[in-house]
Amino acid sequence: QKQVVPFQDGNASMKALLGGKGANLAEMTRAGLPVPPGFTITTEACLAFFKMGNRMSDELFGQAAAALKQLEKQKDQAFGDAANPLLVSVRSGSVSSMPGMMDTILNLGLNDSTVLGLAALTNNEKFAYDCYRRLIQMFGSVVMGIDAHHFEQLLHHRKEKEGAKQDQDVTAEGWKSLVEDYKKCILAQTSNAFPQNVHEQLRMSVEAVFKSWHNQRAQIYRKLNRIPDEQGTAVNIQSMVFGNRGDNCGTGVVFTRNPSTGENTFFGEYLINAQGEDVVAGIRTPLPIAALKHEMPEIYEQLLEASRQLEKHYKDMQDIEFTVENNKLYLLQTRNGKRNAQAALKIAVDMVHEGLLTKMEAVGSIEVSHLDQLLHRGIEEEAVKDVLAKGLPASPGAAVGQLVFDADTAAQWNRAGKTVILARNETTPEDIHGVIAAEGVLTSRGGMTSHAAVVARGMGKPCVCGCEEVRIVLNEKRMYAPNMVIEEGDWITLDGATGRIISGIMPLKEASMTNELLLMLEWADEIRTLNVYANADNPEDARIARQLGAQGIGLCRTEHMFFSPTRLPVVQRMILADAKEDRLRALAELLPMQQSDFEGMFEAMDGLPVTIRLLDPPLHEFLPNLEELQRRHAELTYDKSGSDLEREEVAQLLSKVQALHEANPMLGQRGCRLGIVFPEIYDMQIEAIFRAVSDCINRGIRVLPEIMIPLVGHANELKIVRELVDSVAEQVLGKDNLRDCPYKVGTMIEVPRAALTARQIVAYADFFSFGTNDLTQMTFGYSRDDAEGKFLTHYVDQKLLQHNPFQVLDTEGVGQLIDLAVNAGRLVKPSLKTGICGEHGGDQESIFFCHLTGLDYVSCSPYRIPLARIAAAQAFI
Ligand code: PEP
Ligand code: MG
Repeated sequence: QKQVVPFQDGNASMKALLGGKGANLAEMTRAGLPVPPGFTITTEACLAFFKMGNRMSDELFGQAAAALKQLEKQKDQAFGDAANPLLVSVRSGSVSSMPGMMDTILNLGLNDSTVLGLAALTNNEKFAYDCYRRLIQMFGSVVMGIDAHHFEQLLHHRKEKEGAKQDQDVTAEGWKSLVEDYKKCILAQTSNAFPQNVHEQLRMSVEAVFKSWHNQRAQIYRKLNRIPDEQGTAVNIQSMVFGNRGDNCGTGVVFTRNPSTGENTFFGEYLINAQGEDVVAGIRTPLPIAALKHEMPEIYEQLLEASRQLEKHYKDMQDIEFTVENNKLYLLQTRNGKRNAQAALKIAVDMVHEGLLTKMEAVGSIEVSHLDQLLHRGIEEEAVKDVLAKGLPASPGAAVGQLVFDADTAAQWNRAGKTVILARNETTPEDIHGVIAAEGVLTSRGGMTSHAAVVARGMGKPCVCGCEEVRIVLNEKRMYAPNMVIEEGDWITLDGATGRIISGIMPLKEASMTNELLLMLEWADEIRTLNVYANADNPEDARIARQLGAQGIGLCRTEHMFFSPTRLPVVQRMILADAKEDRLRALAELLPMQQSDFEGMFEAMDGLPVTIRLLDPPLHEFLPNLEELQRRHAELTYDKSGSDLEREEVAQLLSKVQALHEANPMLGQRGCRLGIVFPEIYDMQIEAIFRAVSDCINRGIRVLPEIMIPLVGHANELKIVRELVDSVAEQVLGKDNLRDCPYKVGTMIEVPRAALTARQIVAYADFFSFGTNDLTQMTFGYSRDDAEGKFLTHYVDQKLLQHNPFQVLDTEGVGQLIDLAVNAGRLVKPSLKTGICGEHGGDQESIFFCHLTGLDYVSCSPYRIPLARIAAAQAFI
């Protein structure tokens, strides 16, 4: 089994084995691009390393040594050779991109004697010792685990001693002394010396990179991005090229298109005379790539050419790291560039127009999570007064929050329910929990490709970076803007689209659809076979849903129509009524209200199906809370406060609430059970529906009503209610008119028994709609109201469950019930219509499952519709 693969022997299809970076380096090498040679230690080797208790096998050693020999030949240099030393970088490369999450060591192969060789070869002692001290610094912190600030302090002292402002101002002698300082520091901190044996350096570095798979920030990132822990990381060993050898050297990052706007323009940044990490770390603020055109015109053209070639090759926008050494261009890495939603859409649409992608490929390339971002918020411009400062517009969207200056505080305040903006000089991967907790991120240093920018963009969070107008003083917990001092806890607004930082709380406005999105949705509609309906309970939501592309209403929860302040008292009167006549009187009052609701819905959905669910929740939900009533009752009784009338009323209410009280209301008298015990309630609702139907038909509206019965668990339940529906329909519409109204009656499948007895139930159903919220609750036996807070989050954290089953459909268990019910139902009634209306209807993975199971539609909240349309198309692809 090959655990080490030279770049020239790999290719892009070997990503699972070589990691993303390794596979791309191999692919670029094969395409003849100028990649410094090297080799990849595979993810399988990493997993074997973990299995052996974090040890490398002799076998792996042997293979690595052989690859190193080959590399020495290719480069005509030797590892550890004092006269002609080969230097390498060691970098992690996971299968799914995890930018900055794991460790990197550069300049490996330097020691007290090879540094002399490097100095002699390059005729540049200052450069050689700068490389050496960087190695010791990285090796010390990454491999030997010494806190980075020790090295930073020593560097700071050295610069002070030399009177050097910038790192470049330090002399060769300065670097030499610093090397000695660093070595002493390592010895003092770990009782071990910095290893002079270069093979020892290499072995320790590879091990450290493997182990960094398990560091905290990598674990958090994986969880956030749903990357499996079992993947492991590959390690890439690559011969070094130097961007910091002088002024004909440099290093940078380019995107083949603008990752913020999607425009087809070359985009990126570079630094002259700098080494790799300087750009990404945001320590020096780099120049825009356009400036390279003037500084190094030939290199610029080569880079442009290579980037075109790579984009064509990968059929996607690329993020390329390059280094120029003595006026020669090297490509160190390429990957599909991270981008925000707006850019992703524009790029995909443009690529279709350019003939680079088919429509199907374009729709397939859209990350569904990106669509969330597209409905991004912006600031109401009229409200903007105090612009404190302006930085780079790194990730669009607007965020309002209280300012904090460190990641821990951000996380703490967030847990306490506050909304925060995290401001840092620059962020590092260590700050990831703060970035997650924050509404938006602000940095005073670093460019558009800095850590903060890349991470925030990936998360769809607003970010302003490189805002050098502000000064953040950590120990004062203050930020100095040109005309104002902002303290920790002060409210600010970030505008990630323009880079503005604004004092105070700005009103925000919601985003609108772009032309690119509309076009993409159109293409998705051409592809998908799964219909997308909306869950909507009022005409306004129905209209929005229709605008967003809903092909019907899959769930109208009629109880939501009861919750308005004018209606609730009538509903309560209906519930509290002792005599049937009183109940009927209250219901008669409710009837016209419901009727007008339904008319509004039918009007909004003219020509499209509207699924109306009869009353579902237990009645006590419409009455005041039991404990509050008990408290009030006690007050009134013992303190003798309040009037006799109030005492009387409260006592009455209390006894009714007590009578309705159930130990397990979710398993109690709700859904059709309620409608069967109190048929007058369903009777009223059905009458209201058909009066509305009749009225709308007379007004020329095309009405397709579908009446849905909740919580059925036995065929007889549906039988009874269906008979009620049919008889009321006939009464209201009359036999003749019935023909003009092809209404449907169906049931929700949300009790496991309903799924298991679908064959019987289907006799009375024209459609099945899977209520996966309750179906999940009852299949797992997890309370949908309490489980998350009590144990479910713990289960997911412990990976006992891969996902929260209330978010992502449990295809293994709940899915099996769905599959079973669909098949059983269709066997008896091939025309049976099937859909899903639980929250899962708006979740990508669940939508995939619905497509595969052959459901006719998914129904989700209106704002999820664009996402569902794309996901449904992707499920088909
Ligand atoms: C369901 O149970 O999935 C459902 C859609 O109904 P509700 O959420 O109203 O119980
Ligand atoms: Mg339900």
